[in-house]
Amino acid sequence: MNYYSLHHKAPKVSFQDAVVKGIAPDKGLYFPEKINPLPKEFFDNIENFSKNEIAFELISQFVGDEIPENVLKEIIADTLSFDFPLIEIEKDISSLELFNGPTMAFKDVGARFMARCLSYFNNDNNNEITVLVATSGDTGGAVASGFLGAKGVNVLILYPSGKVSNVQEKQLTTLGNNIKALEVKGTFDDCQYMVKNAFLDKDITDKIQLTSANSINVARWLPQMFYFAFTYQQLKHKNKAMIFSIPSGNFGNICAGMMAKQLGLPIHHFVAATNINRVVPNYLESGKYIPLKSKQTISNAMDVGDPSNFIRILEIYKNDLLTLKKSLSSYSFTDKETKKAMLKIYKNSNYITDPHGAVGYLGLKKYLEDQSEDFQGIFLETAHPVKFLDVVESVIDINIEYPEQINKVINKTKEATFIETYDELKNYLLQ
Ligand SMILES: *Cc1c(COP(=O)(O)O)cnc(C)c1O
Repeated sequence: MNYYSLHHKAPKVSFQDAVVKGIAPDKGLYFPEKINPLPKEFFDNIENFSKNEIAFELISQFVGDEIPENVLKEIIADTLSFDFPLIEIEKDISSLELFNGPTMAFKDVGARFMARCLSYFNNDNNNEITVLVATSGDTGGAVASGFLGAKGVNVLILYPSGKVSNVQEKQLTTLGNNIKALEVKGTFDDCQYMVKNAFLDKDITDKIQLTSANSINVARWLPQMFYFAFTYQQLKHKNKAMIFSIPSGNFGNICAGMMAKQLGLPIHHFVAATNINRVVPNYLESGKYIPLKSKQTISNAMDVGDPSNFIRILEIYKNDLLTLKKSLSSYSFTDKETKKAMLKIYKNSNYITDPHGAVGYLGLKKYLEDQSEDFQGIFLETAHPVKFLDVVESVIDINIEYPEQINKVINKTKEATFIETYDELKNYLLQ
């Protein structure tokens, strides 16, 4: 499969090149040249397929012949070595729990898939590639865990000092091996700025092959299609159209759901639920896309002022706002509303949501409020509540025990290099 740049000023590339480069030379995101819908019989008979078979059907055209079928199947089996439970918390309202992977956030799926693809591409050569990534919390942990020990891949994670949770910091600073962490004096925006600079710095790119592991990378973005199909497999027998509400920051997850819909997965409507960083809700209201400076919230993985994958959504809907609005609604919620929802869900359903999942729940309820038809609603629970322990324990008066995945890292010693300036990053890379 070939990929083109959404800035249309760079040559088309193979899947391999799109994964290795991350972003096109004209700074555009890569997008697949074709999307071939799957046969209707596949969706009609989805209950007869295993999780791994479903994933293979969805992803194989996007990989093409660049990874042999048997290897791709191994990569998928390795990637999906945990469960994706669907928990009904109210009649026809379910939480899709995406947090059972090694770092307890949904980003594990994409990070594990991408790491295994890169390792495969590096298998028969001695090329070294450096994955450079800025994180506000969850990306760093998922990338660290997903890429640990990957052949020929060095990982360098930049995170803002004092601005990630204790659990998140341990996840990205304690693994050692090919994973290194830089603790940056500054904000997430400063980290991201340094990473962007490095990608543009010829002194660095002449010497080192850099790639990104954010959802702009197609190998991290596309596997997120899988769990929308796993959900359909579990809910098909109910014969009620599905509404998905996705807590959204960079809009990679929801955009993957839209790709699954393009393949024929019967999703009736998407809700993009955001915190007060409401660029997309504003866009759907006014038709004007205006990036804003990001504001800090309790659902901090969604503190994004200029969602990078939104351009892919526009491409799927051919830049037609009216068509897009038929498939997408978007609402924004304050921290106060989010906390209130977390408490309400706990009291009424005895279910603990993290702040991101609670925003998803709110978006779903708001959309359903105005519908006369009978739907089933699914909100994505994108992180385990333990990852946002301070918030969760202060809103709901409970103690959450560390799951096994967290116990493994929480008492390990942090190893990170403290930096303040871009030049320090550059020296680190070139040393
Ligand atoms: C990354 C993240 C999100 C946002 O996902 P996008 O694909 O960037 O929209 C939501 N919730 C959690 C917990 C995350 O880590």
